[in-house]
Amino acid sequence: ELVKGPEGDWKAVLGGLDPEWAPHYAKAAALVKTWTTLEKVNVTTGIGWSQGPCVGNTGTAPGLGSICLQDGPLGIRFAPLVTVFPAALTTAATFNKDLLFLRGQALGREAREKGVNVLLGPCIGPLGLFPEGGRNWESFGADPYLQGVGGRLTVRGIQGEGVIANAKHYVGNEQELFRRRDEGRNAGWGLDGPISSVLGSADLRETWAWPFQEVVEEGVGSIMCAYNSVNGSQSCSNSYLLNEVLKGEMGFQGFVVSDWLAQDTEAEVSANAGLDMTMPGEKHSFTAGDSFFGAELTAAVVKGEVSQARLNDMVLRIVATHFKLSQDSPSYPRPNFSSWFRRSHGPAYVGAGDNAPGQIILPLNANIDVRGNHSSLARQIASEGTVLLRNENSPNSTLGLPLGKKKVLNLALFGSAAGPNPNGPNSCTDRACNRGALGQGWGSGSVDYTRFITPLESIQSRLYAPLSSDPPAGLFDFTLDDTNRDLLRQKAVAMQEVNGTCLVFVTSDSGEGYGSSEGHAGDRNDLELWHGGAEMVLTVATHCRDTVVVIHAVGAVNLEPFEGHPNVTAILHAHLPGQEHGSSLTPLLFGDEEPSGRLPYTIFKKEGDYPRIEKEANGRVPQSDLRGMAAFDYRNVTSEEQEKTVRYPFGFGLDYHPDPITISDVEVKEEFKPIRFWANGGNSSTASPVTIPDRDLRKEPFTAPKGWRFIKNYIYPYLPAAPKREDITTGPSANLTTRALPVKPRKVLEVTATLKNPSSKARMAVPQLYVTFPGGKGRNLRGFEKVRVEAGGEEVVKFGVSEREVSRWNVGRNQWEVREGRYRVEVMMDSLGRGGRKEVEWRG
Ligand code: BGC
Ligand code: BGC
Repeated sequence: ELVKGPEGDWKAVLGGLDPEWAPHYAKAAALVKTWTTLEKVNVTTGIGWSQGPCVGNTGTAPGLGSICLQDGPLGIRFAPLVTVFPAALTTAATFNKDLLFLRGQALGREAREKGVNVLLGPCIGPLGLFPEGGRNWESFGADPYLQGVGGRLTVRGIQGEGVIANAKHYVGNEQELFRRRDEGRNAGWGLDGPISSVLGSADLRETWAWPFQEVVEEGVGSIMCAYNSVNGSQSCSNSYLLNEVLKGEMGFQGFVVSDWLAQDTEAEVSANAGLDMTMPGEKHSFTAGDSFFGAELTAAVVKGEVSQARLNDMVLRIVATHFKLSQDSPSYPRPNFSSWFRRSHGPAYVGAGDNAPGQIILPLNANIDVRGNHSSLARQIASEGTVLLRNENSPNSTLGLPLGKKKVLNLALFGSAAGPNPNGPNSCTDRACNRGALGQGWGSGSVDYTRFITPLESIQSRLYAPLSSDPPAGLFDFTLDDTNRDLLRQKAVAMQEVNGTCLVFVTSDSGEGYGSSEGHAGDRNDLELWHGGAEMVLTVATHCRDTVVVIHAVGAVNLEPFEGHPNVTAILHAHLPGQEHGSSLTPLLFGDEEPSGRLPYTIFKKEGDYPRIEKEANGRVPQSDLRGMAAFDYRNVTSEEQEKTVRYPFGFGLDYHPDPITISDVEVKEEFKPIRFWANGGNSSTASPVTIPDRDLRKEPFTAPKGWRFIKNYIYPYLPAAPKREDITTGPSANLTTRALPVKPRKVLEVTATLKNPSSKARMAVPQLYVTFPGGKGRNLRGFEKVRVEAGGEEVVKFGVSEREVSRWNVGRNQWEVREGRYRVEVMMDSLGRGGRKEVEWRG
């Protein structure tokens, strides 16, 4: 299949043509046209790592303060008194759209109250191709559609609070190893550049960039280009990805910001390729004081290598987004925290060093508690994101879950993951260690705990204050030792003597490539449970007839060592719950709440059944050939093939009832006959592009004002000396194009189905809609809902399917195509239909 390289003559695409954005561009133009070139450059460039309160801070211009960019996808990084929400992966596992939105809204509210302008989330790439990928937990599971819904609702929530969301990492950032040339282990390989993901152009549209298209339609304000290269060209200077696909085809109106130190080319190369802002400012290392933008962008504009029109567009994209989100409102808070220290006063320019000339001490930490009542939302998400994989569900058995069905509650907890980190929950930098109960992975996407409830704590307090429905309490015991077999055996035997239940806590962790834990350098080395988890389960299960396994992990783990063990009576996968760790688990264990999570990825039986990370430097620029791999996980595989390899399929999860909720009366209604080929760019815009007249560069200042006191390592837009008149190019070099607006796909199908609950209790169901294309092999998720079905009752569910959702990318025509032929439309309770399946057909 055709792979488009960067060599095409893609032109930079002007923002402002979308009628929803046009007024904000007009307002921005009125401001930006008053700015000098230096002021414009300032807004595109970070002032340097730790030179301001946030992980990213732009320079200022009149009428626009510094823009604060702060991590991350599950809470506000480097700040106290914030909520540590469940990870995106956990939230995806709820399959609950309301919760996806509410979490985004709560994140937005906390960010705003801390004075953050751009929240660096949602993460919608990695897509989770490789189960070992270190950052999969930061995003929404191994399916582009699910990532799209998760991303979209999160953006809606964040931006509804007036905070600019940042969708990252665009695109193909599936592994941590080799993501940056000089990082950690990579330094030893002597690489010429970051790993290059090789993506076919249809796969790009249908899979890798799919969730980005969704958030663009939602109006996302900013997108982060990734560390890795795509098809040989670095993502942040890849004109095909940024200009052609993102801004041209998808119609992205906001600004593109580099991942931190991901810009790796000269100002003119990346600016003309579509990069609008560089972060945190420097070229290759933090606090080096240099930049590819800053003074180098100023020089490129003076020389005409970057046209004034392009510089204006870069700045307009940023300022229009600022206005669109009403961040010019006087009530928008300024940052009231410092990422770099916790005492109330400290240096304004940490990156300059304490005694640097010009250093000033400011009261930066106001310690504002922004948590509101978000702990209950966090708790609910963590609870609904917990998946019951297996249970002794037969009506008369007292084995397995919930604990409420026991005659007497004799309970023992096993494993370090049930209790606290002995050094405190924040003891490892960016959570790069796995000690005690696991609530988050590690890296820039982690957050400092102000509160953290372990299972040991919450189960114990439940035993001290039991509900009236709880069985009478018997023995309680625990050990936080994972490996002392004698101790484990002894406690398991003691529980068995009183027919007690043994809860075994196991984990698996991963994180961002700059950190490492127990030999896992970002990506996991394998899918085994850490700390001898599998042996611990087996040791306990050998002696304890009622062994319940509780997993806290970043994704799929190897369950095979104990999967068939007769004494393993239940398995819960609770993902990464964040701060409400034990408090979300205990009500599920006791049965006050029922598990309603579904797996947002497939757990296969063998490690060999998954795609594997590129672990060798197969060149001075390592290549990761992803062609033919876009339909991973449950997709592009027939049911028959999967039955052999799958342990628990994508979309699967049990509750505490033996009889499944049934599906019936599936119908598909066609709203209109879609045209066969359609392209983005079919609509003509009613808005005319805003233009700002070029400035007379011979009259502009380019050097710092006289007597200016430079701060060490701070990044400025100033040239060291005024350019000579003859070096200033004023001629037009605008390499810009206006593109017709993208088509917003219309709803083409409505699918309805009836769910029936045979049991005597109200229950949650997660019906899922899958479409198989004519000539296609595997299924594609195209809808899901989480619905409550009353005891003995029925519920009708509706799914809307858009034109794009029944289209494939036609490489030859560069258009979407609704293929002619038979589409299989299925409503199922998981991606394999094990829990129920009904199919109908639609003819495209
Ligand atoms: C990560 C981004 C993050 C940024 C700022 C990078 O290392 O890849 O996701 O937002 O740092 O901390
Ligand atoms: C920082 C992250 C940053 C990463 C880049 C770390 O030291 O804490 O924010 O994204 O370096 O590699």
